Amino acid sequence: MKDLNLLEIQRHSCAHLLAAIIHALWPDARFGVGPVTEDGFYYDVDLDLPLKEADLALIQDKMLEFQQENMLFERAEWPIDKAIAYMEDHLQPYKVELLKLLKEKGSTSVNASEEKGASGIDVVSVYKLGQFIDLCKGPHVNSTSDIGAFKLINIAGAYWRGDSKNPQLQRIYGLCFASQKELDHRLWQKEEAKKRDHRHLGEQLEIFRFSEDIGQGLPLWLPNGAIIRQELEHLARYEENREGYLPVVTPIIGKEKLYEKSGHLAHYHEDMYAPIQIEEEIYYLRPMNCPHHHQIYLARPRSYRELPLRIAEYGSVFRYEASGGLSGLMRTRGFCQNDAHIYCTYEQANEEFLKVMQLHARYYDLLGIKDYHMRLSLPDLDGSDKYVNDPEEWNATIAIIRDAMNESGLPYEEVAGEAAFYGPKVDFMIKSVIGVSYAISTNQLDFMASKRFDLHYIGSDGLKHPVYVIHRAPLGSHERFVAFLLEHYAGNFPTWLAPIQVRIMPIADRHKDRAHEVLKMLQAFDIPSANGKIRVDIDDSDERMQRKIANAQCAKIPYMIILGDKEIESGKISIRRRDGHQISDIDVLSFGKILVEEIRGRSIDFTLI
Ligand SMILES: [Zn+2]
Ligand SMILES: [Zn+2]
Repeated sequence: MKDLNLLEIQRHSCAHLLAAIIHALWPDARFGVGPVTEDGFYYDVDLDLPLKEADLALIQDKMLEFQQENMLFERAEWPIDKAIAYMEDHLQPYKVELLKLLKEKGSTSVNASEEKGASGIDVVSVYKLGQFIDLCKGPHVNSTSDIGAFKLINIAGAYWRGDSKNPQLQRIYGLCFASQKELDHRLWQKEEAKKRDHRHLGEQLEIFRFSEDIGQGLPLWLPNGAIIRQELEHLARYEENREGYLPVVTPIIGKEKLYEKSGHLAHYHEDMYAPIQIEEEIYYLRPMNCPHHHQIYLARPRSYRELPLRIAEYGSVFRYEASGGLSGLMRTRGFCQNDAHIYCTYEQANEEFLKVMQLHARYYDLLGIKDYHMRLSLPDLDGSDKYVNDPEEWNATIAIIRDAMNESGLPYEEVAGEAAFYGPKVDFMIKSVIGVSYAISTNQLDFMASKRFDLHYIGSDGLKHPVYVIHRAPLGSHERFVAFLLEHYAGNFPTWLAPIQVRIMPIADRHKDRAHEVLKMLQAFDIPSANGKIRVDIDDSDERMQRKIANAQCAKIPYMIILGDKEIESGKISIRRRDGHQISDIDVLSFGKILVEEIRGRSIDFTLI
C-alpha cells in the first residue's frame, strides 16, 4: 500500500470512527475493511439488519459526538496469534481471515500467493478507539478531533473481497475533507453532477441509447447525437486542414501479425476483443488506429521533403472493458477517436508536439473549457517489463516533450509509472464547470514504432533515418467528449452544437402557414456548418403554447419563435431564448443574419440580445 497523505490519513481515521460507532450501536457487527476513496472512505460491515438512511443519520450524529470528545487512537503491537485469538473471541471472521493471510503470506492481497518472496509475519499493529479494537497498519491522526469534516452519504452492497461467492456486506460510504467548506463544496458538486449526469441528459435530449441486442458498452447515436458528432468533426477537419493534416480512412480490423508487430498482443492483449477467424487467418478488432496509419506511411518510400507527414482519421476502435466498468458514454467498448499520427524527424518533434498542445488550447478555449492542465506520465523504468527497455530513447523523448510543454506555457504535472508501453504520454485533464476532472485526450511521442514497423525516411544525406511518431487526439473520443460536454453545459449546448437551433411555434392553426414561410426563410441561409443550414423545426402539434414552450425548454433548444396574430400582422417575429430572455419585433432576416454569425463564430454565448 502506498503512503497516505495527511488528508488520506484523516479519511482513513474517519473510517475507524465509523466502525467504532457501529460497534457501539450493534455489538454483533462483523467488520471487513475500511479504505480511503478519492473523496472520503468506506467501511464494509456484516450486520443482520439492513441499514437505512435514518440509521446513517444516527451513526453520523454519534460520530460527531465522539469527534468532539477528543478520543485518542491508541496503537499497540500484538503477536499475530494473540490478534487471531482476540478476533476469534470477538466473532470477527473477516479479520481472522485477514490475519491468517498475514500470518501465512505476509499480505492480505487476494493474489498474495503469487507475490514474489512472500513470507509470513508474526507481529501486527492494532488500534484502539474507544472500546473498539481494529487490525490496522496505520497511520492515523492522534485524536478524533483531528479528523476534519465528514458526512456519511450512502450504503451499497459489496461482496467480501469482491467475490460473488462470498457473503454480501453493507458498504457505508462517507465523505471527509479537512474543512467544512471543502465538504460543502463536494456535496454541492455531487448534487450538481447528478443533475448534469450525461446518461440522464443523453436520454432527455435523445443523444444516444444502448440496445441489449447490440451489446453492452456499444452506444447507438441518435440523430441529435449524430449532429453533435458531425459538428465536432467539422471543426476538427477545419483546424486539421489548416495545420496540414491529410485525412485517411482505414478498416476497423487487422490481422494478428499486425498486432504482433505493433506490440499490442504482447502488451495490450487484455484490453482487446477476442480474435475472429476467417479462412485460416486470425483477425482482431483494432484497439487503436496507429498500426493502420503506419501502413499508410509504408505505402511508399518517404523522403525528408514529405515530413512532417500528418494523417488524420476519426477512427473507430474497440476495447474490452469489464461490464462492471462500463458507464454510459464515459466508458464504452467501442468508440470513435479524433485521431491523427504525425510522422516527423527528431528535429521536428518538438515543434510538432508544441503545435499539438496549442491546438488543444484552441479547442478548449472555443468550447468554454477554462480549467485544464497536462499530465506527463513517465515510465517506471526499473522493475517493470511493461515498458520497452531503452532508457536512452525514453530520456530523449521525455526531454522533447518537457521542452514543448514549457514552451506552451500551459500548466502541467508529472507522474511516474503511467506511461504507455511505447513512449511517454501527455494527457489533457479538463474540468467541467462544476469542477469535475476528466482525462480527455492522450498524446504520445513514440520512438518504438519506427523500429517495430520499419518506419523510415530518406534524409538529405541519402541515408535511411527512423521517424518519430506523435499520437494525438485533442477532442478525445466522441463518446467521452460528448459525455463531458453534456455535463459541462448541463445539456445547454451553444447554438452551433445544438441539434435543433430554432423551433417555430405557431399559436393556432391559422398561424401555421406563416410558420412554414419563416422556416423556409431561415433554411435559405447558407452556413459553414456540418449540414450547411440553420437547424430549425416547427412544433405544429395541438398542444397549448405553455406546453410547447416547456417541451422546447426540455429539449434545450436555444431559440423559440412564437407566432400569433400580432406577429402575422406586423410581419415580424417574437423570440424566446432557452434562458427565458425575450426579444420581440425583430424581422426574420435580421434574426437569420445574427444566427448565422453566432453559428459561424461558434459562439459560446447567445448573441441575440
Ligand atoms: Zn486504520
Ligand atoms: Zn496512435
